[in-house]
Amino acid sequence: MTNLVEAKKHLIAEQHGLCAYCQTAINTHNASIEHVVPKEKNLELSTNYHNLVAVCKSQVKDIYSGKMHCDKEKANQLITPFIFANESDVTAVRNNSYFAAYSDGTISAKPKLTVEIGNEADSFINILNLNHITLKQRRTKDVLNGLIEASTVVPNHQKRIFWKLQFEKILLNKKQPYRQYLLIYIANKLGIN
Ligand SMILES: [Zn+2]
Repeated sequence: MTNLVEAKKHLIAEQHGLCAYCQTAINTHNASIEHVVPKEKNLELSTNYHNLVAVCKSQVKDIYSGKMHCDKEKANQLITPFIFANESDVTAVRNNSYFAAYSDGTISAKPKLTVEIGNEADSFINILNLNHITLKQRRTKDVLNGLIEASTVVPNHQKRIFWKLQFEKILLNKKQPYRQYLLIYIANKLGIN
């Protein structure tokens, strides 16, 4: 038991306090330990620390789909793990080239990917239900909307520099919830994807 609590603490610290799948802020009370490759698929990996991530405990069913998100939906399915909060910024660029982010909080596989990678990106989003209504609302209401509102008082000729500064700030702040979503959204705005 103690070992599990310790492992959870370490994982959360490594992931800068963010769910490995949806990047919601987590702590030892509201997170659980998740096997990326399910125990059922690979018993050897089940005790391997590198196969473990900390994820949020999804508790609310989407009013439209009736589904939860993250590990509650994943169960023992296999995913290609695209978004890990503890990965380097090189990966942020990689994710940037796989996903698109929209102002209503939706994320999707980017158009024009190869069929294979497009399918992997799609199933990553679908299996984890990353467009759960609660996640979309949090991405917009909790973070993006505040930035958009702040940008409205910036004179037109300074808007680009405003968004560039936001991008750099978020890039440095590894604890920023929904960080990948924001980086991808702003990168697209700046034409740097
Ligand atoms: Zn999550």
